Amino acid sequence: MLDSKTPEGPLADKWTKYKDHIQLVNPANKRSIDVIIVGTGLAGSSAAASLAEMGYNVKAFCFQDSPRRAHSIAAQGGINAAKNYQNDGDSVHRLFYDTIKGGDYRSREANVHRLAEVSTNIIDQCVAQGVPFAREYGGLLDNRSFGGVQVSRTFYAKGQTGQQLLLGAYSALSRQISKGKVTMYTRHEMMDVVVVDGKCRGIIAKNLVSGELERHSAHAVVLATGGYGNVFYLSTNAMGSNVSAAWKAHKKGAHMANPCFTQIHPTCIPVSGEHQSKLTLMSESLRNDGRIWVPAKKEDAEAIRKGAKKASDISEADRDYYLERRYPAFGNLVPRDVASRAAKERCDAGFGVNETGEAVFLDYASAIERYGNTEANIRGLKSQSQAEITALGKEMVKAKYGNLFDMYKQIAADDPYEMPMKIYPAVHYTMGGLWVDYNLMTAVPGLYAAGEANFSDHGANRLGASALMQGLADGYFVLPYTIGDYLSKDIRTGKISPDSPEFKTAEAEVQSRMDRLINNNGTKPVDYFHRRLGRIMWDECGMSRNEEGLKRAIQAIRSLREEFWKDVRVPGAINSFNPELDKAGRVADFLEQAELMCLDALERRESCGGHFREEYQTAEGEALRDDDHFAFVSAWEFTGDPGEAKLIKEDLVFENIELKQRSYK
Ligand SMILES: Cc1cc2nc3c(=O)[nH]c(=O)nc-3n(C[C@H](O)[C@H](O)[C@H](O)COP(=O)(O)OP(=O)(O)OC[C@H]3O[C@@H](n4cnc5c(N)ncnc54)[C@H](O)[C@@H]3O)c2cc1C
Repeated sequence: MLDSKTPEGPLADKWTKYKDHIQLVNPANKRSIDVIIVGTGLAGSSAAASLAEMGYNVKAFCFQDSPRRAHSIAAQGGINAAKNYQNDGDSVHRLFYDTIKGGDYRSREANVHRLAEVSTNIIDQCVAQGVPFAREYGGLLDNRSFGGVQVSRTFYAKGQTGQQLLLGAYSALSRQISKGKVTMYTRHEMMDVVVVDGKCRGIIAKNLVSGELERHSAHAVVLATGGYGNVFYLSTNAMGSNVSAAWKAHKKGAHMANPCFTQIHPTCIPVSGEHQSKLTLMSESLRNDGRIWVPAKKEDAEAIRKGAKKASDISEADRDYYLERRYPAFGNLVPRDVASRAAKERCDAGFGVNETGEAVFLDYASAIERYGNTEANIRGLKSQSQAEITALGKEMVKAKYGNLFDMYKQIAADDPYEMPMKIYPAVHYTMGGLWVDYNLMTAVPGLYAAGEANFSDHGANRLGASALMQGLADGYFVLPYTIGDYLSKDIRTGKISPDSPEFKTAEAEVQSRMDRLINNNGTKPVDYFHRRLGRIMWDECGMSRNEEGLKRAIQAIRSLREEFWKDVRVPGAINSFNPELDKAGRVADFLEQAELMCLDALERRESCGGHFREEYQTAEGEALRDDDHFAFVSAWEFTGDPGEAKLIKEDLVFENIELKQRSYK
């Protein structure tokens, strides 16, 4: 059984009391302590900037040419915080409650409560940095709603919230770089972590431009390396997002937690063909105003698929707004797992609306009319024609969602102001990740994980706009306390040498793996294997899973892995710029991680959140949890073979929330 190190006491006091009692490091001692942060997305940049500001010496690493290009920049819709600016009943408790319920009761109460508590500080911090959040007419910060909640608590900057937040964190980071407190290593990939006498003391990094390996030592290491959705090949993640850093840590003793909990986002542009390597998200914010539907009659759906009818040919009475029908209380704003499954159910039943039958409509016609009428009232315009109302409505929708609509138009070659968008669920986020305790420390002392790389706060399903909140909570407000408590025991340790046998061995192992890949003389490119892996994962461990399929997937992944090592071809040289070699290393890790994901999904004989086991569902087709047997975090320990990993459980104790069948009806 794992110890989460959750502090004692009433839930709402835990974090405050914890902060009051931790060991501190005085300013002079901080100057002699080194911390490595791998990853400079929102979680890593905020952690690096904060720890450097506090006085630690920070080395930060990312594989892009600038921290500004981390995947975080892609985040569109917004960031949650329990500010209750709308006076609609929000509170820290309600954000806590929504997150636990949204995660289908598979997350740790104390962590989630802390997240809700610090959420309000994040907005203040970002505003102070100059992040241009959207504002209302009177100048106050504006909010919108995201799925799974009945309040408006999402702060946003048009459809570019991640970008603006990252620019804020990046400016804080740049300030520390210019002061010399952070040394920034761009275009460097962490290849392994180094453990000395049971503590994480550094990393082996590869300079991706020169191909050289480097040893970097520190008193503690933070992995803020993002999520692993690209194990599915097609996902909304940035092309470079990968599991390698977390997987290397797993192989060195960190546990991988709930790896099968994957989020499939309901509003993405559907797959268009075999040659595609990337999927595009249409932000969840669009579900604030858009209505999702399919034709109620199969013959209409078929006619649309064949191009004989258009969406506008289907009368109101012949449309099935299936989310509004099935979930009247939350309607189009049900959580992502629920919305995704409902779309799949309609498409599987033959109501899909694109050529492949895997798409539903996201329609803005009624929002355009509603906004048009409101705006006409505001402007005091009388007896407007329908065309004028529509034009006004389009203007308003453009102001709110313009960049998302432009993006859709460019990719789908269809005008969403005129015709409903076609959307379908796609892999988007991984709730699983490195197991961390309350301090965000993995099972390896001195090795921390933050942001999407850890498993922490979202249980089996993350609510929209909560990833940015968690990444920034970890970096700005949690790690600066928890890591200090650990480092307070290191003030007399002195510099960590990168020349110890542990560093040399780790470096030699990295080198020999690269040698093996480059000298393999196979015949197939890396993508050939990645694409096949993605297909297996999507078919057997995607939106729904069953025992037979998962067993099949495990066998298929094992033989694909064997084939990869026999037949992969990696061109180019080893000691030079070689992105294909970098990709090969990442795909090799995906081929191992995928097996663990399937094993985890197989062992969890219940349905919860994004993990839908077909054998366990209610009569209405909803996820059926088994709290008596599965109210735990699955933390997997590496034993030499991904398929032989050992399951260690962290029991989830709910003292403040009653476990219920989730209902959004
Ligand atoms: C299209 C899209 C839209 C989204 N919109 C929202 C939204 O509106 N609201 C919300 O809350 N969430 C949203 N999310 C989720 C959210 O963007 C991510 O979960 C979050 O940004 C992850 O931040 P991070 O700092 O943990 O990781 P990332 O931003 O992924 O950063 C990872 C960092 O790690 C580095 N790295 C990785 N591996 C290595 C290695 N081996 N060596 C060195 N460096 C490494 C990378 O270079 C990078 O700097 C969205 C996600 C997508 C895909």
